[in-house]
Amino acid sequence: NRDRSLGAVLADSLRFGDRDYLITENSRLTFAEHGAMVAAFATALRERYGVGKGDRVGILAANTPEWLVAFWAAQALGAIAVGYNSWWAPREVAYAVESTEPSVIVADAKRAAILADGGVDVPVITMEEAMPALLEEFAGAELPQTEVDEEDPAVILFTSGTSGRPKGAVHSQRNVLGVIDYHRHSDAVLAAFTGAEWSRETVSERRYLLTSPLFHIASLHNLALPRLASGGAVVIYQGAFDPERALALVAKEKVTNWAVVPTMAQRILDVKDLEKFDLSAMSAFALASAPSSPALQQRLRERLPFAQFSLVDSYGMTECATAIAVATPLDLMAVPGNVGRPVLGVQMELRDPEGNRVPDGELGEVCVRSAYVMLGYWNDPQATAAAITKDRWLRTGDYGMIDGGRLFLTGRRSDLILRGGENIYPLEVEQVLDEHPAVAESLVLGIDDADLGSTVGAVVVLREDLPSDEVPTEQELTDFTAERLAYFKVPAQWRITSDPLPRNATGKTMRAKVSL
Ligand code: ATP
Ligand code: MG
Repeated sequence: NRDRSLGAVLADSLRFGDRDYLITENSRLTFAEHGAMVAAFATALRERYGVGKGDRVGILAANTPEWLVAFWAAQALGAIAVGYNSWWAPREVAYAVESTEPSVIVADAKRAAILADGGVDVPVITMEEAMPALLEEFAGAELPQTEVDEEDPAVILFTSGTSGRPKGAVHSQRNVLGVIDYHRHSDAVLAAFTGAEWSRETVSERRYLLTSPLFHIASLHNLALPRLASGGAVVIYQGAFDPERALALVAKEKVTNWAVVPTMAQRILDVKDLEKFDLSAMSAFALASAPSSPALQQRLRERLPFAQFSLVDSYGMTECATAIAVATPLDLMAVPGNVGRPVLGVQMELRDPEGNRVPDGELGEVCVRSAYVMLGYWNDPQATAAAITKDRWLRTGDYGMIDGGRLFLTGRRSDLILRGGENIYPLEVEQVLDEHPAVAESLVLGIDDADLGSTVGAVVVLREDLPSDEVPTEQELTDFTAERLAYFKVPAQWRITSDPLPRNATGKTMRAKVSL
């Protein structure tokens, strides 16, 4: 059915003509220009590299307009776009390429070198040289159209690798089209919440700032792709994240929507003269991808006027094409620490290890069923069967509790600390430590113990500009925690440091790399 495909969404986007689609600090592409580039590039992929339906087109690059041109060119051919993580080392890239077997990889020069270092033996089109040459050679080509089935795979994106090796989640045409539909709806809902005007016109005037990598689902599916359908613009921030430069871009391009990971939010708050930036166009601000503390949310509301009634927290994962749950501003202000309610079209249940549903108020694994759940992991039926039950429920691996219809996350199955007969969720202890005025961030982990199985250990990172006479002692931190938590949750071992915790591209702490 050609009417229901990403290729059809692409063809439809030409009607937005000379409106801006992709903007960077020093370039802009209209929908018409983008469409012409995609037509030329797709034709080049077909003619020169034999790319056809179901073939993989790898993309390995920092955020650039070309990233999205390559993505949409793959869609025009009914091919599967594979977004590799541009932060990977050569060996990691080589492994992912080997398992996905792309016909060709579109890469920026820096990553082309990484592919070479990894010994990857697949044709590479560099974005700086080969791609412009192909665009010129095939300029004026007609946009290819390919018939696909809604169940055909369209995209492969990799999980962050927080709990092990990154897994390639395969999304069908239907999964991604569902996200686009979801955004049509949620734009309207958001407008209702924030009191903003909503119509087809106002949605197409929206400008989304992109500060997180396109190889992650939050940016690609929930930010960049729906704009092609709505006529809105994607403002691509390039280079290492510098909050002042990002804020200047918000002001210059009159950005309306911005989603950040909690670490970026913290860095925005650390900017000295926040008030000097004209952020008056901003109307929606989202935290996403990693746990954020109620304290951080509160500070954002205080310091960013637009965040006051627009701040949301969005919970999702690579295995699910759109967010699983979103906490509205009202949810966040009503009860601290929740990630809201399941989004439209998502069924949610919390289950015990045997797979039985637990009653509200009790801890269980978050399980979801929806049209957004991936087809499975690429080439890995075993991992797929472990993640998705026969009746299509996705086991997220996240633990939590539902209270008053809202979801409260307590951490991952794999992070749980089993101390004697008690289960300890690191997040709960970390949130208490983060309330301490000297603490910038913290990480709580289990330490092997002959008697108890595990005891609790904590790594505490001090605030950057902390005067030396305010550095807390282990005893002070112990007392601080003991006043707020049951005795068995109080860390028995500490490491106090000023080195930040190692994080991955979605802002999550790489737990496996931290020890006491
Ligand atoms: P891997 O699956 O390879 O271990 P990962 O789970 O970190 O890596 P992603 O799919 O990028 O890979 O991240 C999804 C996970 O991130 C969720 O399962 C959840 O644990 C966490 N997460 C996402 N959004 C939020 C949020 N708003 N609040 C708390 N945690 C979140
Ligand atoms: Mg995961």
